Amino acid sequence: MSNRPYIVGNWKMHGTRAMLAEARAIDRAAERLIKVEVAVAPPFTLIHATRKEAELIGIGAQDCHPAEGGAHTGDISAAMAKDAGASFTIVGHSERRADHGESNTLVKQKAEAAIEAGMGVIVCVGETLDDREAGKAEATVGRQLKGSLPEGEGVAEQVTVAYEPVWAIGTGKTPTPEDIVAMHKHIRAKLVEVYGEDGAAIRILYGGSVKPENAAEILSGKEVGGALVGGASLTAESFLGIIIAAAGDGEE
Ligand code: PEP
Repeated sequence: MSNRPYIVGNWKMHGTRAMLAEARAIDRAAERLIKVEVAVAPPFTLIHATRKEAELIGIGAQDCHPAEGGAHTGDISAAMAKDAGASFTIVGHSERRADHGESNTLVKQKAEAAIEAGMGVIVCVGETLDDREAGKAEATVGRQLKGSLPEGEGVAEQVTVAYEPVWAIGTGKTPTPEDIVAMHKHIRAKLVEVYGEDGAAIRILYGGSVKPENAAEILSGKEVGGALVGGASLTAESFLGIIIAAAGDGEE
């Protein structure tokens, strides 16, 4: 695992080619911000063009189908996303779990397919507000990890986990720093349970209303290895504010 904080922008269903200017600006700045590993996950339609515009930052997909190919109208396989220029894919985002009824089993199949295709994966987990209020946040996240994490020889090296409380995504609300650290600790323990020693090196990102103003505090939490950023990754200005906060003491 790299010790550099890993800051990943999830553009969701935003962006036409006009947005490539943002990717270019992020990429130029990344040249100076070498203490931080930066990536963006644009919509499928922009992966190829973003890869061409941005030379330094990582480019990822937001999802993939578990099959290698076949009669799946409208879907994209991991190999296709990779061919377009993605080196990793997000799987199990709560919006996909909610909008498309994705189960832990399906998320795991997608993660395994992506790794098989030679990509890294960011596996998303996170509790609902009901879970948290009922004191079930850790149990929910533990269940999601158990069901969603890919299995197989050497796969841990390709895995990043994103802890994204559903109630914090796009709402401007965040858990307390103590709650973020407690959940990261819980996730770390589960990763070691699943992968043994290799689980100790997996990066765990926090996601949910990360902004330039709160990034430094969130990223300073023990075991917080970076951030998955939605809304605030859509302009270079706000995304760079988060990357600069992650760099800690400036730009080198
Ligand atoms: C996300 O969707 O992954 C996310 C964290 O969104 P936001 O930063 O907008 O809360």
